[in-house]
Amino acid sequence: KAVVHWFRSDLRLHDNRALRKAFEIAQDNQVPLICLYIMSPEDLTAHLISPARVDFTLRTLQRLQRDLAELDIPLHMESQAHRKNIPSRVVELLQKWEANHLCANMEYEVDELRRDAKLVHLCAKKNIDFTPSHDTCVVPPGALSTQQGKQYAVYTPWYRSWLAFLKENPDYLELSEEPGSNPGNARQAFPSLFDCELPAVPENKRLTTEEEKRIQKLYPAGEHEGLQRLEKFLEEKGRQYEEKRNIMASQHTSILSPYFASGALSARTAVAAAKGANKNHLDRYDQGYITWISEVAWRDFYKHVLVHWPFICMNKCFKPEHTNIEWEYDSEQFQAWCDGKTGFPIVDAAMRQLSHAKWMHNRTRMVVSSFLSKDLLIDWRRGERHFMENLVDGDFASNHGGWGFGSSTGVDPQPYFRIFNPLRQSERFDPDGEYIRHWVPELRDVTGKAIHDPYERGSGAIAEKNGYPRPIVDHAASRERALERYKKALQK
Ligand code: FAD
Repeated sequence: KAVVHWFRSDLRLHDNRALRKAFEIAQDNQVPLICLYIMSPEDLTAHLISPARVDFTLRTLQRLQRDLAELDIPLHMESQAHRKNIPSRVVELLQKWEANHLCANMEYEVDELRRDAKLVHLCAKKNIDFTPSHDTCVVPPGALSTQQGKQYAVYTPWYRSWLAFLKENPDYLELSEEPGSNPGNARQAFPSLFDCELPAVPENKRLTTEEEKRIQKLYPAGEHEGLQRLEKFLEEKGRQYEEKRNIMASQHTSILSPYFASGALSARTAVAAAKGANKNHLDRYDQGYITWISEVAWRDFYKHVLVHWPFICMNKCFKPEHTNIEWEYDSEQFQAWCDGKTGFPIVDAAMRQLSHAKWMHNRTRMVVSSFLSKDLLIDWRRGERHFMENLVDGDFASNHGGWGFGSSTGVDPQPYFRIFNPLRQSERFDPDGEYIRHWVPELRDVTGKAIHDPYERGSGAIAEKNGYPRPIVDHAASRERALERYKKALQK
């Protein structure tokens, strides 16, 4: 007999609820613990997983395999061409290994819930115990509701309730212990499982060699790196976070999102560590830590939203009236946005950061999502898709939530009449143009405030000489157009 832990988006040993559970069951029964990971190219395609995120996952798996082997725990990895076969394949493997217990952490997206529903059914037929755990959120979905028993659709009251829950239930911030050495002799019983190769990845999900080098340097994979970054961030930048987090140029945020998305870092660990750094408070004492905790809470919020309104996974707007918005279909403008050639320096800098670093600053994510959906009036779902196809931290719930916010079509969005002015955002959050100059080399020689709008501020000659485009729309006019279209849609 054996016990199996199935890794999904929880690629770590530390503070992993289901892995700990699997270890304890194996320990109680003195049987081997085996770990499993399955990748399906169909899932990668259906969920638009970016090559950068795939690369990050593979490197994390490699590290995980090594760390597990030190504990004599094997990690079996494979690729399944058809994702619909995954549940039966898992059961088949369990039978082959004579395992009668399976543990895994829940994933809340609809495809994954359907997969698990099938798995529950198959396990029951074969007398396999399946124990799912809530792990990815600090507060599990379903734990918070309004006084009327409804799910919150607004962040602020939800966050108050999230804080109150954690104060009343401090055990939700207790970290799970890492597993120890394999309780059973897996090396003897399953020797070949220790030489498993990484799952095969289709060509279109691979980075180029040049990209690979760059991305690997920017985001070294694995939980050790995630934990180190967390510690360093809290120590060196946590206190200034509130004040500096919106400055686009230098690194004032944690850049932990790739680690959260793959599960190399647990959100619980992060919140517990920030609370520790903040003299054991979640919502008072140092505003830097308080704000950072509330940002990690946004991640929970969007996952809760997904669980309560699962139709958002099907390309639907949170509110049906937003489907009435009449969009423009200008593919040249969409391409200019993707390529960072809109003639709006702040938008272009951000989009080039995305292409190059496969990551973007939160403030500019808001600016470019508002620009696409309001200035260009292009359906926000095209932008949502482009983000997923590129981001190293692409996460359905947070990405969908962010796009819903920027395009004013989501849960707790900014009101539709609040349209970001790219120029004002640029002047406020990149005052010296450092971010723009870094990402838009055509404008490096532009001095002073002209950097924000070179053609209008006397630096058109430099911009033109270097081939920097003129603005593809007039912000004031497109603002009026957006207001009209949104208003019309909401009146229908
Ligand atoms: P920090 O500022 O250090 O924050 C710490 C952590 O808190 C982040 O790593 C993240 O897990 C969480 N967090 C912070 N802000 C948010 C937020 N607004 N929503 C949800 N979680 C948040 N985040 C993703 O992880 N994946 C995405 O695909 C994604 N797409 C986005 C799309 C748009 C249009 C917008 C506006 C935001 C999106 N975000 C997404 C949220 C946010 O921009 C990133 O989480 C953040 O920029 C990551 O940088 P960081 O790790 O340095 O964040």
